[in-house]
Amino acid sequence: MQKSDKTKIVIIGGGYAGLKALQNLCKDPKYEITLIDKNAYHFMQTDVYDLIANEYDFAQVCVDLFTYCTGFKNEVTFLKQEVKNVDFNNKKVITDSQRITYDYLVIAVGAQTKFVSSISGLKEFGHGIKALNRAMYFKQKFEMSLFQKIDKEGSYCKPLSIVIAGAGLSGVEIAAQMASFAKDFYEQNHFLCRKLSIVLINSSEHILKGLDKYLVECSEKHLEELAVIIKNNVRVESLTESHVTLNNGEILEMDFMIFTGGIEPNGVVANLKLSKNKFGFLEINEYLQSVDYEDVFIVGDCSTLYDQDNNKLPPTADIAEQMGTLAAKNIRKMEKKKQLLKSRIKQRGILIALGRNYACGKVYGIYLKGCIAHLMKKSIEKIHLYFLDRQSKKGCKKIFCTPQD
Ligand SMILES: Cc1cc2nc3c(=O)[nH]c(=O)nc-3n(C[C@H](O)[C@H](O)[C@H](O)COP(=O)(O)OP(=O)(O)OC[C@H]3O[C@@H](n4cnc5c(N)ncnc54)[C@H](O)[C@@H]3O)c2cc1C
Repeated sequence: MQKSDKTKIVIIGGGYAGLKALQNLCKDPKYEITLIDKNAYHFMQTDVYDLIANEYDFAQVCVDLFTYCTGFKNEVTFLKQEVKNVDFNNKKVITDSQRITYDYLVIAVGAQTKFVSSISGLKEFGHGIKALNRAMYFKQKFEMSLFQKIDKEGSYCKPLSIVIAGAGLSGVEIAAQMASFAKDFYEQNHFLCRKLSIVLINSSEHILKGLDKYLVECSEKHLEELAVIIKNNVRVESLTESHVTLNNGEILEMDFMIFTGGIEPNGVVANLKLSKNKFGFLEINEYLQSVDYEDVFIVGDCSTLYDQDNNKLPPTADIAEQMGTLAAKNIRKMEKKKQLLKSRIKQRGILIALGRNYACGKVYGIYLKGCIAHLMKKSIEKIHLYFLDRQSKKGCKKIFCTPQD
């Protein structure tokens, strides 16, 4: 077989960061690109609150990576394989079934829910929502529980109790969306048994730690209107199938608990012989290269990025995408032996979904709330999906399936 003289680029992870790197690198036909993901789909985590609240089905929050990759003009190979390790000295990515050689590597494996081992019962009885299978399981359980309450109506009417531990962006969005969904669900159907209790557990003085005061106050006010109970300055100590114990001694009854209390880099990162910070996130330089190997770029939630004033940037899809684009540009610069670009990445904005038709946000320094903010958030999500979908349709045509327009 003839050996290709193309530059081989391997991207691990088809999330927000990995796909942005891929889109940018695909502009150049001289690259042979391989995308590897353990799942066959790109999961749009930013829309997960709508999945859980039954606004979306799972097909609306994921994109098939095989058809997506087939849609590019130059050849992109997609491998649905789990990466186990990387041999950096011999430039080989090791998956469960093969070794793939690279000239440049982009690591974009994201993060996962950190099920803190000091909280007893958390792994057994808590739910995470950062993986699609977990979010789906929770969504089905939520709907089934609502149904069971209605089914038993007449004999008893005990509230459905949901505890959400962790009041960062994802915890707040999930609490608001579930409260909003349940409110409409009960009202529309005139059910007699209309009890739902959502408790948001927060270890700090205010929810959304580190975010702008306006966003915190706007979110707190709206959560209150949705009857979400916020418990500040407390932590979950342990949980059983039916109860959550807090560190102030309080015991809460619960039907289920979602844990959004923290993230850690995805499992494979622990195996990689690369420098990491004290929380296990991969260390990068200002060009987004690993501090250990200049041909390895690290993007998205598996690393920690600081802005020019040395403030830590939050792990968001917006930052992950900007990192993916910059890493791709720097690979092209390296190929041309040109000076690499330093990261000037900033948070462009934040929009917090707070139930049906309501959001609070700050975009390019401008504060927004209500329906306008909600519409803007939806538009951003739709634009993200539109470009992925357009690419998938091209892929579909190539492999002779018939996409519905
Ligand atoms: C509920 C919720 C709401 C959010 N809302 C927002 C929001 O409104 N705005 C915003 O900007 N951000 C939001 N975020 C954060 C955002 O989703 C993340 O910051 C973003 O997904 C990070 O992108 P990433 O590419 O680094 O990682 P991911 O999107 O997690 O992608 C990582 C990819 O790597 C793959 N992978 C992992 N390990 C391996 C392996 N060993 N082998 C092969 N493949 C592997 C995974 O399958 C995955 O496809 C939200 C997150 C959650 C959970």
